[in-house]
Amino acid sequence: MAYITLNKNNFFNNLDIISRFTKTKDKIALVLKDNAYGHGLIEMATLAQEYGVQKAVVQNDAEAKKIEQFFEYILVLADIPTIKSEKIRYTINDKNSIQKFPNGTKVELKVDTGMHRNGIAMHELQEVFEAIKEHGLILEAVFTHHKSADELTSEWFWQNDNFAKIKEKSLELAKKFGFENLRFHSANSASLMRHLNFDEDMARIGIAAYGCMNLPSALHVDGFKPVLSLYAQKISSRKIQSGERIGYGGTYEALQEIVVSNYNFGYGDGFFRVCSNNYTTPHQKVLVGRISMDNSSFICDDDEILIFNDASLVAKVIQTVSYEVLTSLKEIIVKKIVY
Ligand SMILES: *Cc1c(COP(=O)(O)O)cnc(C)c1O
Repeated sequence: MAYITLNKNNFFNNLDIISRFTKTKDKIALVLKDNAYGHGLIEMATLAQEYGVQKAVVQNDAEAKKIEQFFEYILVLADIPTIKSEKIRYTINDKNSIQKFPNGTKVELKVDTGMHRNGIAMHELQEVFEAIKEHGLILEAVFTHHKSADELTSEWFWQNDNFAKIKEKSLELAKKFGFENLRFHSANSASLMRHLNFDEDMARIGIAAYGCMNLPSALHVDGFKPVLSLYAQKISSRKIQSGERIGYGGTYEALQEIVVSNYNFGYGDGFFRVCSNNYTTPHQKVLVGRISMDNSSFICDDDEILIFNDASLVAKVIQTVSYEVLTSLKEIIVKKIVY
């Protein structure tokens, strides 16, 4: 089977760069949703703990439960509690969801400052503080999310302005309703890198830690290195004569005699069928014919090949983002940590 290597040095290098922006490791909340962006939830939680990251962000309670032992603090972005844990905080994404959280739950309130995906409307702040108090929940933080932190537009600035207003109002309301030490956060990877003097309580960092950020050149930050590489092994090899065709549908025709080998990965492992006849590996091995479920053919005779070591480059080929390339990788693929 294809396998993944996780480069610990690169991961720690990325966390070093991120710490320069947050000024302290304590403010890094590593986003581990979706199997740690395809890297392996437990593997990345283990490495993060070794580095000294104490905070994590996940999508649901099942993920939180799996990594509870590794962190001091875990934020669940979109779920209701199914387990009891002092470490886990839950997001309120909608004013009508407050009733779903059991009395005494630690919660963080998401405010919609312009993305219009999740979060309460800005004008609902007071009534939601009131409802949280009334329902006996413990409000620990107020946060927001940027819609265009990785684009050179004005949105990032006016969302920050909106959030500044929310912070001010929240501090007043916290006094009124007796919520102590309210915390604030808004930054994902791209947003953190735009702050010249970051002063929030934490940053929710995913893609930068994995080393696959694609920012416009004006926002570019040097030094990040991809953590994940995907390798595949040869199943079989053959000589193809000029005029013979390869794979389902025979979509590739050899123009001369070539050696073609077949490798043990395909769209069933999370690679993209649209790369059929349209992908070249970092070592210049050319993919020929259609990618099938567990097979891909390359003009090559090596026993093992590197499929990719930078998800951003694959993303360019298929016109998507590195997030999609990484999270498409199936959880079952074996992970090896390398140095
Ligand atoms: C996924 C996610 C992040 C992480 O974003 P990156 O661009 O990977 O750093 C941060 N905050 C929220 C709410 C998210 O859903």
